Parts: sequence; structure tokens; C-alpha cells
Amino acid sequence: MKKIAILGSTGSIGTQTLEIVRDNPDLQIVGMAAGTNIDLFEKQVREFKPILVSLQSEKACKELQIRLADMEVAIIPGMEGLLSIAQMEESQMLVTAIVGMIGIQPTIAAINAHKDIALANKETLVTAGHLIMPLAKKMGVSIFPVDSEHSAIFQSMQGENADRVSKLLITASGGPFRGWTRQKLENVQLEDALKHPNWSMGNKITIDSATLINKGLEVMEAKWLFGVDLDRIEVVVHPQSIIHSMVEYVDGGIIAQLGMPDMKLPIQYALFYPDRRPMAGKRVDFYQLGSITFEKPDLETFTGLRLAMQAASEGGSVPTVLNAANERAVHLFLHKKIHFLEIPEIIEWCMSEHKRIENPNVDAILQTEKEIYERIDTKYC
Ligand code: NDP
Repeated sequence: MKKIAILGSTGSIGTQTLEIVRDNPDLQIVGMAAGTNIDLFEKQVREFKPILVSLQSEKACKELQIRLADMEVAIIPGMEGLLSIAQMEESQMLVTAIVGMIGIQPTIAAINAHKDIALANKETLVTAGHLIMPLAKKMGVSIFPVDSEHSAIFQSMQGENADRVSKLLITASGGPFRGWTRQKLENVQLEDALKHPNWSMGNKITIDSATLINKGLEVMEAKWLFGVDLDRIEVVVHPQSIIHSMVEYVDGGIIAQLGMPDMKLPIQYALFYPDRRPMAGKRVDFYQLGSITFEKPDLETFTGLRLAMQAASEGGSVPTVLNAANERAVHLFLHKKIHFLEIPEIIEWCMSEHKRIENPNVDAILQTEKEIYERIDTKYC
């Protein structure tokens, strides 16, 4: 029996993780946290029977306690709850399926408690990769990527010598606005941006896919996960999303992982590595597919990706600025307070005003996030 804890159980990755647990009786959920979706969370707690759970606010936790009065389950609100679940003695692995930089501290706590990590929360590595990766190495903890591109790279490196990698090729669908001009993007509506052509995901990452900023975050994530320099990581637009990413080796050979766009595969691979478990679902039909195509990303139109690459190469606290500004701008866009093209504009403005910190610790990262949020809110709220 493998015992796991999950942060963000009510989200897109969280619910798919629970579907895998439902299909595999040798997985057991011992801890579970979510934000505000108390109705779904209550159902999940009743079904999976964890011993420790958390919701974001004290009020929600009190309400949950009343609803779960017939069950034996400990409930701890907020960050204290996330940290307790991350380090709980009964669990072997933490699935970080929470969204945002709130994932940093629980991930560090879990690594310090010798828990392996199935990492979906990309913000953790984007902003604190320089702290997380050395810590994981020191504690002998494995970080298994859940993001489909990083899982594809990880799968393409099995049995290979990491020193022989010449470059990582991260594929991108190009999002719903691939091929559009800036002029056309001026008229983008929220509903259009939420329609991803291939993947079904949470709202924040769906918008990040439409701006291509998600690809920039993934480049940073890949740099930390695989220890590959930025100049050896390339983004390739591949609209069919069948190749999930590729690794080129020093002899020119390229190994890729292919499959239907379904997040359950990378989640399951992370949970059972090195095993592969059966999984139902659609298979790639090459005859029906006919052809697959590749393009260069358009950095002139999708300036968010250019800014993310700039933040990645500047390093230090700049990726935190990019990430925080993007989070806040996407939040404003989701609430129809700003226009689609204002997302990269806000990021660029925040990056230009920021005084870079070389090696930020967790406090400095969170302080930078707070300052960026305040700066944006003062102007836009
Ligand atoms: P969702 O928005 O669907 O889910 C986010 C989860 O986090 C929800 O369970 C939410 O709870 C919870 N949450 C948010 N804030 C808090 C908080 N303060 N305290 C506790 N829980 C909180 O996001 P996704 O599942 O799409 O993404 C999760 C992470 O995985 C992100 O970092 C994303 O970039 C990454 N990722 C996602 C992919 C996908 O296919 N969805 C692919 C690759 C990476 P509630 O809803 O109850 O408020």
C-alpha cells in the first residue's frame, strides 16, 4: 500500500489524481487539502477517508467539522494545515496540486520530512528552484514531474546518461490564439481564452497557455528539474499535442514521449514510478492523425513568452516577479478587469520596476510576491 497526501484535491490535477487512486486499490490517501470548494471536498473526504484534512479558512474548517461530525478526521485550517499534511508521518509522497506560490513552503516541509514529491505546482520551481533542488538532493528525496512536458522529458531520459543530453525540446500547442496577430488579440474575450484546443485544465493555467507564459514557466521548471542550461532548452510549437516533449542527445538521436493529451498518464507515472500501470482511455491512432506539424513560437505577438525567457535568464528574484505579476494579472483578466493584452504589459511594467535580488530565500520570495500584488492592486483595483 502506498500512502499519499495531496494538496489541491478539488482542482483539475487533484480530482484526476483521486480518479487514479479510485482505480488503484494499493494507493491510499492519508491527507488532503483544498481551498474553498467545501461541497466537493466533503464528498472527497467521505470517499477517501484521510486522517488529516485542511481548507483555506478557519470558517470553512469549522463548517467542515460540523458536516463531518460522524467521521474521525483531524481538520487544521490554512498554512498550518498545509504544512501538517505535507509532513505527516503516515504519508510517503506528497502530490502538490495546489495553484500558486503558496505551494513553496509545504513542498519544503515535505522534503525536510523525507517525503517524495509528485510535483504539479510549477510555481514552486519557477520561483524557488534554487532552494528546492539542492534541498531535495541533500535529503535524498525524489521529485517526480507531473506536468506533461516534464514527465515526457523524464520518461525520455530513462536508462540514459544525463551527461549525454544535448538539448530539451519542450512542445507547446500554441494555445487557442496560435497564428493570430496582435491586432486580432485586442478583441480576445475571456470565454475565448478559456477554450484550450487540446487540454482540459484549471482556469489559471488555461489562460497561461493562451498567453504562452505557461511555456516560459515550463522552461524554468525544466531548467531546475533536469539541471540543463537555458540555452539548451527549446520551445517547439506542435499544435496536435501528441508529442509531449523530446530530448536530443549528443549523437543527434532524439527520444520523445507520445500519447493522447491526458494528464492522468503523467500523474499516474509520477505516483507509480518506475512502474507503468494499465490505464483506460483513447489511444493515438496514427492513421486518423495523418500528420503532425511543428512551428517556431511567435515571440513578437506573444510577448509574455519573451518576458518569461528574459526572467529565466536574469534569474534571482526576477522569475518571482514574472510569476507574481502574471498570477495577479490573470486573476484580474479572469474577473474581466483587464484586457488580454494587458497581462504581458503588467508583467513588463513590474519587471522594469524591480530591483533584482541575487539569491532570494523563501521570505524574500514571498515578500516580492506581496509587493508585486500590492503594486498591481494599487493601480488596477
Ligand atoms: P486548479 O485551479 O484546478 O486547482 C487548484 C487547487 O488548489 C484547488 O484544489 C484549490 O482549492 C486549491 N487551492 C487554491 N488555493 C489554495 C489555498 N490557499 N489553500 C489550499 N488550497 C488551495 O489548478 P490546476 O489543477 O489546473 O493546477 C494546479 C497546479 O498544477 C498549478 O500549479 C498548475 O500550473 C499545475 N499544472 C496543472 C496542469 C493541469 O492540467 N491542470 C498541468 C500541469 C501543471 P479550491 O478549488 O477548493 O479553492
